[in-house]
Amino acid sequence: MANDRDPFTSPFGTIFSDKITTAVGADGTYTYSGSAEPLADLSLHPGTHALHYGSTCFEGLKAHRQPDGSVAIFRLDDHVARFQQSIGLLYLDVPEADLIRQMIIDAVVANADDTPVNPGALYIRPTMIGTEQNIGAAATPSKSTLMYMLNSPVGDYFAGGIRPLTLAVEQSIPRTTPQFGMIKSGANYVMALGVTLDAKRDHVADQVLFATAGDITETGASNFFLVRDGEIVTRNLDTSFLHGVTRASILTMAGDLGYEVSERSLTVDELLAWGDGGEVFLSGTAAVVAPVGTVIVDGQKTTIGDGQPGPNTLKLREALTSVQDGTADDPHGWRTVV
Ligand SMILES: *Cc1c(COP(=O)(O)O)cnc(C)c1O
Repeated sequence: MANDRDPFTSPFGTIFSDKITTAVGADGTYTYSGSAEPLADLSLHPGTHALHYGSTCFEGLKAHRQPDGSVAIFRLDDHVARFQQSIGLLYLDVPEADLIRQMIIDAVVANADDTPVNPGALYIRPTMIGTEQNIGAAATPSKSTLMYMLNSPVGDYFAGGIRPLTLAVEQSIPRTTPQFGMIKSGANYVMALGVTLDAKRDHVADQVLFATAGDITETGASNFFLVRDGEIVTRNLDTSFLHGVTRASILTMAGDLGYEVSERSLTVDELLAWGDGGEVFLSGTAAVVAPVGTVIVDGQKTTIGDGQPGPNTLKLREALTSVQDGTADDPHGWRTVV
């Protein structure tokens, strides 16, 4: 069991399960002990590659409590594939999908009792770091690695549950660079930090929506949607932003529900016009489906619809969470029961 703190009253990501799976990589070969072990501090040489040259990436997925008491991981194989993609973009040795998959399952089985009731979940944080001891390796990838599957019981990402968010739109500073748009690597989040802190201080914004030269992509950790009766729109995929698994799930489910689905470029002007009667929301494993009530462009506030979560947003959120928590059918095979 994790310590006895309550995931619903503790900040997201601050409680850790006491079992972890780890594998060590050396020259392309990964060695996994084969079972979960007690969570313990890492011992790292001060010259570790990841600490100096940013050779680190992660994934984020969830296991949800099912009505029969079992636990199901949501879209496991899609997260495994994206983790492999992130690792490859760091030029680290990419483990076999089967190994990553097994290590995630073994960790979740070991920590299954920690899974909170819905809408809580057991958050799974696969992590990879380059461990070569070499401060001269700025221009070479780490030849050795450490991979682990850390688990954290979580409640709601946004304290206070579903409440409409305020987004500050940033049109000059980009979130990241083209070669790092599709990777979940620490560098991206620290790059977005200054802009985000400024927006929180100056506009009491919850998040920043990055829209370089008016071209909307995503926020610091969530994808972006416009929706209204019968129609849903999101940015088309390219290398500039993270390809969310939640984003893909929502597009599939919206199609199933009869929405006209478009993936195309989106401008800030279109967002402002959409606010007149339309709905805006963010998506991500942590945020789930998070309604947006206000956007701030050049210091100017615009209310989206009536500023409250809209019916289409709530319908899509319910469709997603009911597949995750096992109260709806799973026509696309997204649940892996462990
Ligand atoms: C993780 C993440 C998302 C959401 O991806 P999901 O697979 O839906 O969790 C979106 N944007 C960024 C930058 C992210 O790190």
